[in-house]
Order: sequence, then structure tokens, then C-alpha cells
Amino acid sequence: MDQSKVALLRERLAQAQHITVLSGAGMSTESGIPDFRSTGGIWTEDTSRMEAMSRSYFLSHPHDFWPKFKELFQMKMSGVYEPNAGHVFLANLEKQGKQVDIFTQNIDGLHKKAGSQHVYELHGSIQTATCPSCRTSYELPYLLKEAVPLCQHVSSDGSICGRVLKTDVVLFGDRVQHFDQVMQSIQHTDVLLVMGTSLEVAPAKYIPEDAAEIPTIFKVMVNMSETEYDPLFDLVIHERIGDLVHFL
Ligand SMILES: [Zn+2]
Repeated sequence: MDQSKVALLRERLAQAQHITVLSGAGMSTESGIPDFRSTGGIWTEDTSRMEAMSRSYFLSHPHDFWPKFKELFQMKMSGVYEPNAGHVFLANLEKQGKQVDIFTQNIDGLHKKAGSQHVYELHGSIQTATCPSCRTSYELPYLLKEAVPLCQHVSSDGSICGRVLKTDVVLFGDRVQHFDQVMQSIQHTDVLLVMGTSLEVAPAKYIPEDAAEIPTIFKVMVNMSETEYDPLFDLVIHERIGDLVHFL
């Protein structure tokens, strides 16, 4: 661990009033959650999986979608994982009175579970699902209980909605969420903190380029391995997130 880098980051975070965080799979793997994109390569080794996790497949085969979805994302494990030191560190920054906007590519809900208030899930959440008809929202226990979760909402005439719920995970073909808020947050932020992502996935990969045009932002990259965007950052730390925050 390069202690001069640690000291610089500690100082900049202490001075900052507004911090914008972009977190990716490296944040979640330290909670034991597999990185679907880089480790197994499940999307590329079997393209039928990608097809099954698409918006068009859900719309045409909603009953077939759910068993595949649950298996692929190991959904029965979703309630088991706990926030790690990285999640807790960010939640504590907010408790110090700073504005901390967290934009995450992760679908596990662990930033919220750690207590962060301003969490924007770019790829949605596995913790909830929504009825496409009446927009009623459902939580994980119900989604786990039913093989194919249906909407239970009773309308004023006494009829039950009954539509197959749509997971709040962003599917292939769905629109990435909250991207406008990322840009708004960056306009006013003091520190951009990228944690656990090599920024390979659009649209997150555009964020450092946009931030680079605003010289007042102190831009920090924390990732295990080098990324092609490292030159855009003021401070680059190649360490595990948990190991780093231990020193902050
Ligand atoms: Zn409904």
C-alpha cells in the first residue's frame, strides 16, 4: 500500500463536501458475490443466456423468463450477502455530513443495505420487481417464494391484476437508469471516486471523460488492475477496496 497515496486521498475526502462514487463488480466481489462479467464469462460462453435475459424474451416468454433468471443470478442467495468494509466506508462518509451520490453497476442492493441514502442503481436491483401493468412493487421474499411471481394487486372492482412481474434488474434491451443524474452529480462534485470497475461497460465508461473536462474535480480510480482510463485520473490506486479503506 502506497501510504502517500492513502494520505492524499484521506485529505481530499476530508475536504470534500460532495463526493460522487461510481462502483462496479469489484465492490461486490469482496462480499463474496461472483463477478458475472469477468470470471465466468457467462454471457459470451452461451449467447442463449444473453437472449433469455433480454427485454424482448421477457415480454414474449414471461413465464419461462423467471426460472432462467433465478438460476443465472443465483437469486436464492440474494438475501444472504452482507455489505463489506467498502460499502460501510461510503455510508460513513455520508454520516459525516457530506453529500455522497453513489452510482453503482451492481444489482445486489448492498450500498442501500449498508445505509447509504443516495444510491442510484444504473443496472437496477435484484431485490425488487415491478408489475408492468399497475406498477406495484414487490420485495425479494415474495420473488423467492413464487416460481413465477405474479402481481397480487386487487383493483377497486375486486379483480386481481395477475400480470407476471418484471424484475427491476436492467435487462439487455432495457434502458440504463439514472444516467442523467450521474452527469448532474458530476457537475457539482468535489471528488469523483471510481471503485471496483474497469469501466468497460457503457455508459459508465463515458463518466471519467466527462469529468476530465472539469478541472476542479479530484478524480480517483481504485481498482485491482490497470484500466485504459487510468491516465484520466488524478490518483490511481491498484488495491482491494477493503484493504484501502482500512487505512482511510
Ligand atoms: Zn399489477
